[in-house]
Amino acid sequence: MDVNAARVAELYAEALSRWRPTAADVGELRAVRGDLRRVFAVMRQDPDAGSRMLNDALARYRALPRISTGHDAPHLHFEAAGEGLVHWLSVSMLMAVVLFVCDGNAARLGLCASRNCRRAFVDRSKNARKIYCSDACAHRESVAAYRARRRQGGPDA
Ligand SMILES: [Zn+2]
Ligand SMILES: [Zn+2]
Repeated sequence: MDVNAARVAELYAEALSRWRPTAADVGELRAVRGDLRRVFAVMRQDPDAGSRMLNDALARYRALPRISTGHDAPHLHFEAAGEGLVHWLSVSMLMAVVLFVCDGNAARLGLCASRNCRRAFVDRSKNARKIYCSDACAHRESVAAYRARRRQGGPDA
């Protein structure tokens, strides 16, 4: 799907600049984050299970395709009209993950293997085999592994 990222960012910034989130909003968005995090945790190893979780979330968050003509030329939206920002944000984040997965990227979702991090990340590397979210985490872990080997008198001692 073609997305004009600059235009989307503009629309998000516009809507969010007027938003004063309540404690309930924050609670709802934390729940969405938790749901997406669980998808990131399983999708690479078990795309069937990850997809079932996404399907459940699509139903629970009521993501329904519709054509919007409110701004720009007719295009797809997935949130119900007039339901507010939390619903819109939830469904937008969810659909971003759904479309990404269905574009052949299931193996690119992961949680950082560093126990001090565990951040959800998208693996943009060519072969999609990264286990750390960043070079910083990969470096920290390799230094820690080296030190552990040295303590145990391993091959690098
Ligand atoms: Zn739109
Ligand atoms: Zn990390």
